[in-house]
Amino acid sequence: MNVYDSWRIAAMLDARGMCATKSVADADIIILNTCSVREKATNKVFSELGRIRDTKKPDALFGIVGCVAREAGAKAFHRIPELNFVLGPQSYHRLPEILENPDTKLLNIDLAGLEKFDELPQMIKAPTVSYIPIQEGCNHCCTYCIVPYTRGREISRAFDDVMRDTAAAAKTGAVEICFLGQNVNGYKYTDENGKTYRLSDLIRATAVMPEIRRIRFTSSYPTEMTDDLIDMFRTEPKLLPFLNMPIQSGSPDVLKRMNRPYSLDSYLEIIDKLRAARPDIQISSDFIVGFPGETDSDFEKTVDIARRVKYINSYSFKYSPRPHTAAALMPNQIPENIKRARLAILDNELNEIQREFNEQCINKTMLCLCEGPDKTGRHLLYRTPYMQQCIVTKKTDQAPETMAQIKITAANRASLRGEFVKD
Ligand code: SF4
Repeated sequence: MNVYDSWRIAAMLDARGMCATKSVADADIIILNTCSVREKATNKVFSELGRIRDTKKPDALFGIVGCVAREAGAKAFHRIPELNFVLGPQSYHRLPEILENPDTKLLNIDLAGLEKFDELPQMIKAPTVSYIPIQEGCNHCCTYCIVPYTRGREISRAFDDVMRDTAAAAKTGAVEICFLGQNVNGYKYTDENGKTYRLSDLIRATAVMPEIRRIRFTSSYPTEMTDDLIDMFRTEPKLLPFLNMPIQSGSPDVLKRMNRPYSLDSYLEIIDKLRAARPDIQISSDFIVGFPGETDSDFEKTVDIARRVKYINSYSFKYSPRPHTAAALMPNQIPENIKRARLAILDNELNEIQREFNEQCINKTMLCLCEGPDKTGRHLLYRTPYMQQCIVTKKTDQAPETMAQIKITAANRASLRGEFVKD
């Protein structure tokens, strides 16, 4: 979501005749787009702002947008008095106001809804992989998560608005569409005639666009994985056979304290249904280790579920207490050294599963999407349907095909090597 927001901010400034500079020292405006989902990222924001202040041109405008801005509010101006603007994730479309009135301080951290999508200019040239937000905010209230505070309650965009943006992306260069939302499969929009649209309707309507070759969505909540959506994996070949569906913990007790109201059985049942619909589907997850009160036995259950499901491409983090969340006030916070040790064990397991899966891909041929040359210029980087990076040796100076059949020839944990099938 932050990558998408940054693109839209850049496009908005482009439309006003500005362009990106290579260094902060050359910029007339510096915008730090921030994430508060983990403590470490939040802590970095103010030290980074201090560095920007000391490096920038004296009259350059600078400020923060995103979730740390929403969380810090006016306090940000006290910590860094030179800041010109502090704009929350729902109000960055107001950024041009500071260009018109550079001598004022601009503060807006309202959770105003979806106005920003209407006020932002359309992108002139869409990226090959285009992110299309379909909903914002979240109603799930997991006890560790700051998102309901920073992004607000869940709200879905109108079906026609999403399809207008998707069609515009398809006409201006998009080949892959990634529908975005904090709770993306909770998408639900009812129009004035009482017709309700779900994520499956968006996928179906996008799949008929000839320019669009791949469709995916992130991030999913397990209990919102409805049958109509699971069925899309059976009927819609453009929908990639890869799904991020975070379980967070394998312990029923921890899940309860996290306020994630699904049982392991019901979660595994959804995975069975997905695999029945699309036998080649692979699942990834997010994990939090060291949640308050997590015992050795709870943690073992997390490692166990990772082995059972064989998640690929997963994200694992140490629990960090966030302001405005219930878990931050829970007793039995886990000491840092235990969290660190558990994370190392889980990472090791997840890396091993990833390496095994990558090795199983050797000799398979996959339709992959080109992301451009690597740093040396001698190779091309492709992305497989499972989001693995595949390095292919460039043979000619001709522009690479956006989509190519690639035979996987070698693999390690982090990436694949491949060759063009037609060659
Ligand atoms: S479902 Fe995701 S975004 Fe929503 S509260 Fe839980 S962790 Fe946060």
